[in-house]
Amino acid sequence: MNLQQHIESSKINGPKGDWYSPIGPDLNDEWTIALANMSPIQIARFWSRVKTDQDFHCWEWTGQKSARGYGRYAGHMAHRLAYELVNGPIADGLVMRHKCDNPSCCNPKHLVPGTSKQNAQDDVLRDRSSRGVRNGRSKLSVDQVRHILRNPEHLRVRDLASKFGVSPATVSLIRSGERWSHLAK
Ligand SMILES: [Zn+2]
Repeated sequence: MNLQQHIESSKINGPKGDWYSPIGPDLNDEWTIALANMSPIQIARFWSRVKTDQDFHCWEWTGQKSARGYGRYAGHMAHRLAYELVNGPIADGLVMRHKCDNPSCCNPKHLVPGTSKQNAQDDVLRDRSSRGVRNGRSKLSVDQVRHILRNPEHLRVRDLASKFGVSPATVSLIRSGERWSHLAK
């Protein structure tokens, strides 16, 4: 059983059984639940808000999100919780980084622990790529980004994306402030 199947069966079979067992080495159920201070039912609810998919796809968080697009659940960062429920705890002082650069992604395979210094470097790279007009790699002009932010025609994300020839993910990132936030004001 792969990770996606494991989690999907946990949503169906409910909190009984061994579905919430971590897959990582040398960890037991009791220990993992204590880790997040969550009951098995809360853990089932947690996974039911994650849109699981194949490993190479992002697993979108469908619940509450922070202003920056990070999933929130029971006082925890959703992506951090997803990683810890599968792999065990993150060592003290380490932060969780998204290899996919998608803050709402909860695919444990897209997450990697790192230092806050590495995370800051990620932010610098992200910022550099988000100010696309200057580096010439962007497909969007400043005016187009402003149009997407204002969305005067009340288009859906998908329609905005096809109007400007970019992916729906790019439109979502712009509208959530994860991209081009310097133009939002
Ligand atoms: Zn991802």
